Amino acid sequence: ATPTALLVGTGRAAQLGVVVKGPEVLESTRRVDTIVLDKTGTVTTGRPSLVTVHTGSGVPVDDVLWLVGAVEAASEHPVAGCIAAAATKQLGELPPVHEFRTVAGSGVQGVVEGCAVVAGKLDLLTGFRTPASLLRAKQQAEEAGCTAVVAGWDGIVRAVLVVADTVKPTSAAVVRQLRVLGLRPVLLTGDNEAVACSIARDVGIRDVVAGVSPEGKVAVIEKLRARGAVVAMVGDGVNDAAALATADLGLSMGTGTDVAMEAGDLTLVRGDLLAAVDAIQLSRRTLATIK
Ligand code: ADP
Ligand code: MG
Repeated sequence: ATPTALLVGTGRAAQLGVVVKGPEVLESTRRVDTIVLDKTGTVTTGRPSLVTVHTGSGVPVDDVLWLVGAVEAASEHPVAGCIAAAATKQLGELPPVHEFRTVAGSGVQGVVEGCAVVAGKLDLLTGFRTPASLLRAKQQAEEAGCTAVVAGWDGIVRAVLVVADTVKPTSAAVVRQLRVLGLRPVLLTGDNEAVACSIARDVGIRDVVAGVSPEGKVAVIEKLRARGAVVAMVGDGVNDAAALATADLGLSMGTGTDVAMEAGDLTLVRGDLLAAVDAIQLSRRTLATIK
């Protein structure tokens, strides 16, 4: 393709709400045959809400909200945001957190009022004693497509906070259109299998890879590429940045984190996946007319 045509394509893309890092990006956009979609914040709104809090061994819900809310307030994850917001709404200003640490794609930990709190995926609380009732609550929430944030301190799992995210209104239509364009959609998430499969069913995706760490996301992209696929990755989070850089084409959500936007080749300004379909169609049209 001529540089002029690519530049025209770049301008058109901008009108569609897609910022292209360089004109040559449209070439790789055209060749893509597999599109890997991150779940949280990409296929779903990423603006989840806290639905309910299950507690064990007689711990009051307010105590859980006080401690877990304080730790989550220091995290940038969308799941964390809704827990901190619910806690603040219920209890007012939350106490400070010390020794805060975030484990990407897994959860958080920190010390609040002398209490070492851990919250996130169950794997993050290895060695903790888990009451059977909380294990059941976790499973039920996940089968329903919700994310279960497991929280504990002093070696005991104290609560399961059920967080519900919603599928974006355009996601199912996007998946259909991607198929029409001949692309294979894959759902990729750090969240667990039950949640991932429930969301995948809602939007019509058959290929699901769940429970993967940020490095795991990179490995999935590498494996697909090794099999000869030309892979686009769409993501919004810090945890997606490496995968976005590894893919043949990285698409970042304009509503996501700066790190993801820096790693991507294309930015979907409004955070709407429909713009990804537009970009693929545009690259095919632009580059077809000038051959
Ligand atoms: P996704 O790949 O769907 O965007 P992430 O990789 O960011 O999800 O996170 C995977 C899972 O780790 C989340 O679904 C959640 O269960 C857990 N998690 C991540 N960060 C946090 C946090 N700050 N607080 C609680 N749980 C978290
Ligand atoms: Mg995400």
